[in-house]
Amino acid sequence: MEEYYTKIWDSIYVNSAKASHTKQIIPSIPHRIALSLWPNHSLTQLLTNHGCFCAYLHEMKKVPTPLCSCPEESEQTARHLMLECSLLCKERPTVIQNLPLPTIMKYHINTVEVTRFITAIFQMLQDQPQPNQTPYPPVTTVLKSNTPTILYIYIY
Ligand SMILES: [Zn+2]
Repeated sequence: MEEYYTKIWDSIYVNSAKASHTKQIIPSIPHRIALSLWPNHSLTQLLTNHGCFCAYLHEMKKVPTPLCSCPEESEQTARHLMLECSLLCKERPTVIQNLPLPTIMKYHINTVEVTRFITAIFQMLQDQPQPNQTPYPPVTTVLKSNTPTILYIYIY
């Protein structure tokens, strides 16, 4: 019975157009079930790519550019930070450089070195220079004085 529902769940997950980033790390429901994983705030952001990454923040119109501040000028996604970003090359454990993400998730995600690396990613994001100007003017300057308050609520 459990196997039957796991197959249905897996079929929905695998065939869905959503969660493309997560599927690179957790390719199937049986893989997820086999993981010893209790995602915290940081890990959830890395798994979903929905977090304080410029690519996502840009999509949400919170920052002016999706690009990372590293010399590669790649889009700053969770994947970029985990696998490619040169600003994190000193902190990136060898295991992350050498194994596919699903394998890291299965066997190494709870190790000290990977946990330290995840901490380093979010520390770098916290320390990275913020844009000098806000990408979009504050709503109060955009709205005309007769703009209904309800619109203000919807914008935020
Ligand atoms: Zn980068």
